[in-house]
Amino acid sequence: TDLIAGVSRDRLEALADREAKRFAEAHPKAQAALASGAGVYLDGVPLHWMKDWPMPHLPLVAKAEGAVLVDIDGNRVEDFCLGDTGSMFGHSPKPVARAIRRQAGRGLTYMLPTEEALEAGRLLVERFGDFRWQIATTATDANRFAIRVARAVTGRPKILVFNGCYHGTVDDAMVTLDEAGHTINRPGLLGQFNDLTGGAVCVEFNDLAGVEAALAKGDVAAILTEPVMTNSCMVLPDAGFHDGLRTLSRRYGALLIIDETHTISSGLGGYTRVHSLSPDMFVVGKCVAGGMPTSVWGMTEEVAERYRVVNADRESGHSGMGTTLSANPMQFACLKATLGEVMTPKAYEHMEKLAERLSRGLRKSIERHKAPWHVVRVGARVEFICAPGPLKNGAEAAGAHVPQVELAVHVALLNRGCLIAPFHNMMLISPATRKRQVDRLVAAFDDVMAELFG
Ligand code: PMP
Repeated sequence: TDLIAGVSRDRLEALADREAKRFAEAHPKAQAALASGAGVYLDGVPLHWMKDWPMPHLPLVAKAEGAVLVDIDGNRVEDFCLGDTGSMFGHSPKPVARAIRRQAGRGLTYMLPTEEALEAGRLLVERFGDFRWQIATTATDANRFAIRVARAVTGRPKILVFNGCYHGTVDDAMVTLDEAGHTINRPGLLGQFNDLTGGAVCVEFNDLAGVEAALAKGDVAAILTEPVMTNSCMVLPDAGFHDGLRTLSRRYGALLIIDETHTISSGLGGYTRVHSLSPDMFVVGKCVAGGMPTSVWGMTEEVAERYRVVNADRESGHSGMGTTLSANPMQFACLKATLGEVMTPKAYEHMEKLAERLSRGLRKSIERHKAPWHVVRVGARVEFICAPGPLKNGAEAAGAHVPQVELAVHVALLNRGCLIAPFHNMMLISPATRKRQVDRLVAAFDDVMAELFG
């Protein structure tokens, strides 16, 4: 029999056809509006990532509130994508909306701090730890700047990253392992003619021996990792993996940079605080200011001291770090509101509880249909994976990815009123998400599973 991820090809194709038609029927206004207005955009989309959505065409959003999206065709959907983590704390959280209104009349960007900047700084330390902080606008930038500091203070060229990782559009991390286990440029990287392997080395996640072998060469400035590899399905760290990274990085004089941009779902302070990690540098972006483009990155006082030394010796000129609109007063207003009033222990308690309800529901459905799939949860973030688990590393995660099945399931879920993230099978629970929304998603998933598995 012809099976893909345990699903018969015939059933899968029938479902995909049916669901594409159903989507088109429910979105006539969006289709007409796109046909007349989207042509000015390259390939009809303002950000080319939007082409990765699996629907026959995009819906146009009329508004979003809490964990609900309403489109111009009047469809109301439960939003578990939440801007792919940017709105993980719900759409327009009330304290953030208030902060925006307050700041809106006082100027949007000055290249000078505000009193709120100082209050936000105190909250950064309280939530994430005693780092020396900088504000940037995207997590991509924050990672690039952290890498730059790591290279500057160690005087070493390479960043160690894990196979299958994603840290934003950071070229330095865009390497992968080939079949022989050598680091190579990631295929698909547009317009990159440099050999990136002079500045990066790639190792499999959970492979401490591989990490040690790479570090032993003495040219690694920093290990850059997520606590859980979330961009390759969700690969959990083995017991002892993070302790091992910390021990080895210290032994070989490399810094440890933890990117919490997605694992902020783990709980208050992110995975770092929940699991008592001790990175030299810490990065988090996307949702940290409630959806206002903001990222934060910090270094320990020890690294800051080394940075001051190299910076003092530096000839004046461009540092390669920025950017002009960063650390603006609107970011601080939103950062303060989010850290102080939105990202609270109580909010996390709610998110955790509903995420567990969701993962239990999905797991039961998978078991009932005897699908060779599994579910992983990291705090408020849940993912179903169309392959058996657990997965150990990026290579296994790449093998577990089944776009054909995933795309059909995503459209089918959306037709049943539930939006999940494109690119992966991620579902996020926000403080605004309600139990009935979770139950609707579980029911929709179970309905789709019944169609796929009979
Ligand atoms: N770090 C991680 C772990 C991410 O998943 C992403 C984006 N998915 C980024 C950084 C980059 O975030 P942004 O696209 O907002 O720059």
